[in-house]
Amino acid sequence: MRCPICNKCFSEGDSDAVAPFCSERCREIDAKRWFCEEYPIFTPNVDQIELDNAEGRYSDETDDDSDYN
Ligand SMILES: [Zn+2]
Repeated sequence: MRCPICNKCFSEGDSDAVAPFCSERCREIDAKRWFCEEYPIFTPNVDQIELDNAEGRYSDETDDDSDYN
């Protein structure tokens, strides 16, 4: 696991670990952040619509096999 506060890798089995944080300290930091409303409100800008004009080529094979004898 990776701590969202200090970015440190840790395992949940660690005695210090307080999931999802690596330690009680980081958990507190996170709690304080919320309390102070310092968390950046991340709004993903889904405004990038790329108009992909793909060339649709149709290989029109009209097999005109007229069989006359
Ligand atoms: Zn941490």
